[in-house]
Amino acid sequence: MPELLRVCALYPDLMNIYADRGNLLMLEQRCRWRGIAFELQRSELGDRLDPRQADLFYLGGGQDRDQKRCAFDLVETKQHALHEIAERGGLILAVCGGYQLLGRSYQLADEVLPGIGLLDAETVREQGPRLIGNVAIEVEMRPGERRVLAGFENHGGRTYLGPGGAPLGRVLKGFGNNGRDGFEGGRRRNVLGTYLHGPLLPKNAWFADWLVETALGLAEPLRPLDDELERAAHADARRAAGVPG
Ligand code: GLN
Repeated sequence: MPELLRVCALYPDLMNIYADRGNLLMLEQRCRWRGIAFELQRSELGDRLDPRQADLFYLGGGQDRDQKRCAFDLVETKQHALHEIAERGGLILAVCGGYQLLGRSYQLADEVLPGIGLLDAETVREQGPRLIGNVAIEVEMRPGERRVLAGFENHGGRTYLGPGGAPLGRVLKGFGNNGRDGFEGGRRRNVLGTYLHGPLLPKNAWFADWLVETALGLAEPLRPLDDELERAAHADARRAAGVPG
């Protein structure tokens, strides 16, 4: 059993909306409960990334204003390393504004923010209300094993996957990528983007464990924990979205 999980949070202050930092706390706690040490690194504006410095790279959501600063920095200082990580099957998780920046571009009213093109997706700020509410999606993180992620979404941008893009999951309730095509998030091997806040992981403990197992390349599943509270939080989030389970 590996003794250490290293997580690198990109722009942890700028990209941390709706308490997305809670995802990091969740990973840390679940590792510690199992005797796995946890190391949290921060990568800020201007910092270069070493593709081998962490087992999981994480990018939270943000407002357009903050996203703009990060978008240009990602392209200038982190793009190549992130592509290298993706190519070797490394794990990258991005939420909402972070997810949008993994695509090709984010079109705002009067300018286009560049994305790093890790996912074949484009985001557009169209006319119309923000897409806000509780959301539940079905994902298949392991072949043949369909499970539900539940959370909350709040985004003005609508994301459209290109011909080479695959979604993270299928919308059961809520808007997902754009409120139209039934897709939610984007996935390319172990590069994962989603609109789900909640934060995502405290409401979906099974997914947090999948991330730890994948990041560490574990052959065996992690030791189960007493997840009574986590299961209740998941059930609540599903009920709120209208998909009880
Ligand atoms: N600013 C982006 C949008 O409104 C992302 C928002 C978010 O991260 N919640 O679409």
